[in-house]
Amino acid sequence: MPKGYTTVLFEGGSMNGETIEAVPLNQIAPEIVMQVGETWFGMPSPEGCTDEAAMVIYKGEIDPVLWDSYRADVYTKRDQGKNDSGVVYEHKERIMVQRCRAATKSGKRCKNTAQDEQIGLCKTHLK
Ligand SMILES: [Zn+2]
Repeated sequence: MPKGYTTVLFEGGSMNGETIEAVPLNQIAPEIVMQVGETWFGMPSPEGCTDEAAMVIYKGEIDPVLWDSYRADVYTKRDQGKNDSGVVYEHKERIMVQRCRAATKSGKRCKNTAQDEQIGLCKTHLK
C-alpha cells in the first residue's frame, strides 16, 4: 500500500465483509453513509413534480435531478489499534436519506439532503 493510503473494511449491514483498497487517508471520515443496494426513489419528471403519489423506483446510480430518497447504512469508524493494517467501519444503523422538499428561487427542487426527516428540509431551508 503506498504511503497516505489505507484499506477500508466494513463490518455488518449491506457492506458486510467488503473491502475498499487504496483509500486516501484524508478521505477517512468518522462516519460514512452508504447506499443500500442499487434502488432508489425518485420523481418521474425533472421539472419539479413534488406529488408524492408520483414516486417511482429507479435502479442504478442516483440521479442528481430525479432523486427523492434512498435507503442507506450508516457506518462509524472504529478506533484503530497500533497494529491494525486498515480502517474498520462498523454498521451503526439503517436510515432513509430524504431530499429537501423546498423549492429554490428558480422554482426547481432543492438538491440538498433533508436534515430533519419529519419536516423534510435541508440545513439552509430549516432557517
Ligand atoms: Zn433545501
